[in-house]
Amino acid sequence: MRLDKFLVECGIGSRSEVKKIIDQREIKVNDIIVTSPKTNINEISDNVTYNDNKLEYKEFRYYILNKKAGYITAVEDPKEKTVMELLPSWVIKKDLAPVGRLDKDTEGLLLLTNDGKLNHKLLAPKSHVNKTYYVELQESISESDLKKLENGVDIGGYTTMPAQVEKIDNFKIYLTIKEGKFHQVKKMLEAVQNKVIYLKRVKFGKLELNSLELGEVKEVKLDEIV
Ligand code: URA
Repeated sequence: MRLDKFLVECGIGSRSEVKKIIDQREIKVNDIIVTSPKTNINEISDNVTYNDNKLEYKEFRYYILNKKAGYITAVEDPKEKTVMELLPSWVIKKDLAPVGRLDKDTEGLLLLTNDGKLNHKLLAPKSHVNKTYYVELQESISESDLKKLENGVDIGGYTTMPAQVEKIDNFKIYLTIKEGKFHQVKKMLEAVQNKVIYLKRVKFGKLELNSLELGEVKEVKLDEIV
């Protein structure tokens, strides 16, 4: 692989930025300063350093974002603000796409990756990745409604799969579903004559929001996801 491409893929900067860095003699390959961006390197076996810090090549990257309300889950949109605008400059945006979707007014855990195969796999209906939502409700929820949500409710011609519900109090629950139908949580609560007034995804597969602040991003490893 060309050195300049490698440096871009490592997240050092854009093509023109890495050219400057190379010009400034800040890059070494196997302890030798290189000055040509066209230098061919082996991204696995060569030791490439930037100001003497070893660079690691990662073809695929995985980030979690604690999405804020007011942003749509899309890569670009002519009118709306997208989740991509929440990503700080150190995130490598090339080919990055969200895995699934959170509504504009939903907050919480959103996975983004440039690993198209994984994205596809996680979204496949039969993948059954558990997603846990913290849900605040307009109306008090009864034990029988909780049972209905657990067993499956009709959300307009489709009966949801068994879900897990944990009651926090009469107006707050955690709901874990393993599907991802359009507006599923909101529709499930409508099916029991209630209304979601606040929705936040707190878990996705093995990933948890934990202490990630609203609007914050963290890089994660593939084996932390599912
Ligand atoms: N279910 C919804 O209704 N909205 C979301 O954003 C996610 C799940």
